[in-house]
Amino acid sequence: MNLKTFILDVPDFPTKGVIFRDITPLLKNSKALRFTENALLELLGNVKIDKVVGMESRGFFFAPMLAAKLNAGFVPVRKSGKLPGKTIQQYYDLEYGTDALEIHFDSIIKGDKVLVHDDVLATGGTAQATCRLIEKMGGEIVQCNFLLELDFLGGKEKLLNYQVKSLLHY
Ligand code: IMP
Repeated sequence: MNLKTFILDVPDFPTKGVIFRDITPLLKNSKALRFTENALLELLGNVKIDKVVGMESRGFFFAPMLAAKLNAGFVPVRKSGKLPGKTIQQYYDLEYGTDALEIHFDSIIKGDKVLVHDDVLATGGTAQATCRLIEKMGGEIVQCNFLLELDFLGGKEKLLNYQVKSLLHY
């Protein structure tokens, strides 16, 4: 299945000059949805995973599905102030300024084997901050996997210590 036919290019969203890759056409097609889930699992191969960590908000589409298939737990990483419990924070750079990501302090146990999943790898700031949170808690990152990767933004360079795999490349 050619998944790229289910990704819509939206020019000038969210700001002028940006081409936003919209995955909602893929999500609403049952065959494409199942194909994507299986393909993401194939990227990982047959390894034991304890936790799948997904990033707000589009990482939440697939990460819980992958966790259920892997007999693992799902752990959300959210923007600052959204998680109700005690959290650990990691600041990261945005185009203008900084922001923070948070994870519940007890969501990863030392030695947990972790799969990190998000829909898009762009500059890599989100994934890098997420990996730092997981490692602060003693988790071992087995793989960072993405539905699609914007190669020209070089996000992989921020994730050199990890195995990075993406289904689609732009
Ligand atoms: P990064 O931190 O620059 O790698 O940006 C990755 C985050 O931005 C991910 O959580 C994505 O959901 C979001 N993102 C960036 N570009 C796109 C896009 O073209 N389509 C959908 N999400 C995007």
